[in-house]
Amino acid sequence: MDYKKYVTVVPNWPKEGIQFKDITTLMDNGDAYKSATDEIVKFAKEQDIDLVVGPEARGFIIGCPVAYALGVGFAPVRKEGKLPREVIKVQYGLEYGSDVLTMHKDAIKPGQRVLITDDLLATGGTIEATIDLVEQLGGVVAGIAFLIELSYLDGRKKLDGYNVLTLMTY
Ligand code: AMP
Repeated sequence: MDYKKYVTVVPNWPKEGIQFKDITTLMDNGDAYKSATDEIVKFAKEQDIDLVVGPEARGFIIGCPVAYALGVGFAPVRKEGKLPREVIKVQYGLEYGSDVLTMHKDAIKPGQRVLITDDLLATGGTIEATIDLVEQLGGVVAGIAFLIELSYLDGRKKLDGYNVLTLMTY
């Protein structure tokens, strides 16, 4: 399927110079959302996944239907202060300043094979922090899946050695 037909590129949002890739027009199309989900499920089946992990909020939109189709669990990665029990944290760099991502300490059983999902790979900072959390908890990152890769930002170089699926490249 030509998924790009369903992505709306919004120029200069949220600020001047950014070409925002709006995936809501893919998600609200049943055929496109199902087909993208099915492709990630197929990839996940080849990696023998035990658990899906995704960063808020669009990582949930991609990861939860995949977890459901596989019949495995989903564990959320959230911003600091959102998860109610004991967490581990990773600080990661943003364009300006830094942010913190967290996971519940008991979210992953050591040795579990994890699929990480998100909507889009840009600089790779978010996914690098997510990998760090999964690996700190003893999970094995068996695959990483995105709808979109912005290849000009070269986030791939942070994912060297990992098995990565992307459905569209800009
Ligand atoms: P990064 O950590 O730089 O790889 O950025 C990852 C997150 O920022 C992704 O999960 C996207 O949700 C969001 N993002 C970054 N750039 C864009 C863009 N051009 N369009 C839409 N979302 C973006």
